[in-house]
Amino acid sequence: MKCPYCGFAQDRVVDSRESKDADSIRRRRECEGCNKRFTTYERIDEIPYMVVKKDGRREKFDRQKVLSGLLHACEKRPVAAVNLERIVDETEAYVVDSPERERTTNEVGELIMSRLKEIDTVAYIRFASVYRDFKDVREFKEELEDLLNGKDPKKRR
Ligand SMILES: [Zn+2]
Repeated sequence: MKCPYCGFAQDRVVDSRESKDADSIRRRRECEGCNKRFTTYERIDEIPYMVVKKDGRREKFDRQKVLSGLLHACEKRPVAAVNLERIVDETEAYVVDSPERERTTNEVGELIMSRLKEIDTVAYIRFASVYRDFKDVREFKEELEDLLNGKDPKKRR
């Protein structure tokens, strides 16, 4: 931020607060060139990235929520936290990359499951049983049996 008094480009923020209607942030700045103080206002116009649920409701993409789902699925499993963080990063990038700024829970869930499957089968099954909308229980059971028998589910029959 250029100082309005001397034009120097370096300053430090001495105070920040939201405006009353919460759509801008007011910052008190002190110029590092002349030490005079000035105020700037920054508009808050960041649109959140959304996840669309099956019933059409939207909610903000929440890294913490993805991570806690993964941690739950990986409970007592030999999965390093760094691997989970990587999945969360990848998931976030996937949502952010969307031109519409949103992805369906289905798309997000499928991405997470495909990564989890590579890391730990049991964690994958736990996660899938919560997330995936299996058409019927038999379909899920068949996939589980294939996984447990070490077969590729796609090559079944
Ligand atoms: Zn200045």
